[in-house]
Amino acid sequence: MGKVEEFLSKEEEQEIISAIVTAEKNTSGEIRVHLEASADKDHSERALEVFHLLEMNATKDANGVLIYVAVNDKKFVIYGDKGINDVVPKDFWDNTKDVIQSHFKKGNFKQGLIDGILSSGQELKHHFPYQQDDVDELSNEISKG
Ligand code: CA
Ligand code: CA
Repeated sequence: MGKVEEFLSKEEEQEIISAIVTAEKNTSGEIRVHLEASADKDHSERALEVFHLLEMNATKDANGVLIYVAVNDKKFVIYGDKGINDVVPKDFWDNTKDVIQSHFKKGNFKQGLIDGILSSGQELKHHFPYQQDDVDELSNEISKG
């Protein structure tokens, strides 16, 4: 796996953003993707830190979801906000994690993220259905840093 800039092409990034738009039509939850080279701490801790840096903890229903990827470390973390964790079972993200993992193992990073995002939308739908007056609370752009 190469550097962050080489991880996805511009076209692939657009496809991922489209997947976020699609997923967010199923749920009031807000999904974001963050890419960086590597973490100097535990990846779960770092994902939580990024979650706050991106102010993802500020959604109305505390239902932001971060898919964090440390490209050079070959690690990813799905972090869901408190509002989600309060109502879902502990293994809630397992299916989505498996979907991403199986693609990443084969080097299909774009497809892993797209399917992971769509899976998140489907899983969240039951607990946080889309609302008619939905606001796009968090940018759909991929963040890097
Ligand atoms: Ca929304
Ligand atoms: Ca959004």
